[in-house]
Amino acid sequence: MDFFATAAQAILYLIAISAVFVPLEYFWRADRFAANTHLRWIRRDWLNDLCFYLGQALFFNALTITLLSYAFGIVQPTEFMPRFIMNLPVAVKVVVVILLSDLGIYWGHRAQHRFPILWRFHRVHHTAREVDYLAAYREHPLDNIYTRGIETLPAVLLGLDLNTIAGFVTFRGLWAIFIHSNTSIRLGPLEYLLGSPHLHHWHHELDKRGLINYANLSPLMDIAFGTFYSPRERPLAYGVHDRIRQPWLWQMIDPLLPSRR
Ligand SMILES: [Zn+2]
Ligand SMILES: [Zn+2]
Repeated sequence: MDFFATAAQAILYLIAISAVFVPLEYFWRADRFAANTHLRWIRRDWLNDLCFYLGQALFFNALTITLLSYAFGIVQPTEFMPRFIMNLPVAVKVVVVILLSDLGIYWGHRAQHRFPILWRFHRVHHTAREVDYLAAYREHPLDNIYTRGIETLPAVLLGLDLNTIAGFVTFRGLWAIFIHSNTSIRLGPLEYLLGSPHLHHWHHELDKRGLINYANLSPLMDIAFGTFYSPRERPLAYGVHDRIRQPWLWQMIDPLLPSRR
């Protein structure tokens, strides 16, 4: 697809998700009564987050897809997976894939917060000082390749077809936008089964340093491994304590440079 078609698609997609989330964030805005904010349309850093969105949509998504297609194209699961696994009904495979992806993402995400080599790239996602649907796109491309790789691997190993895999990736992507949205929408008892904005906003809270609520789609892994955190109140400040350069271009470059003292 040529660049102009990609750009047109990126803009249309942005309009589509904005048409859903701008009204949701307006009418069900989570931080409306927070002490340190006031209702406003244009928030701090929105242009920066738009750069992250455009960077992903115009360049890095294609890079991720090309790299992962190449890497996973080499994997031939029929050669090493037991036949009874490969012969499981698709419905069973889908359930297994969802559980394995969640398990992989959970520990992969814990590793992103644990190991400095991964944290320097994942930190970019945590530099958002205001979290809303657009901030979901604040990611370093290498961090994105890491996460997409982990979440896709189980589907590749179980031999699901490309359309089903693409469906998974799309659904997880949409859920990621929802859990970043600045909305007070709560899921009630379902929040033990499905990730929500409330839970993920606490993952971005300034002083918690992201060491809770690692899950994206389902918090079951957080519950199982003791990192589930859901207080009644909502966070008041987001981001990281480290001194970082906010502009998009620096956020792309800085993780690749030796650590600054
Ligand atoms: Zn996030
Ligand atoms: Zn994180």
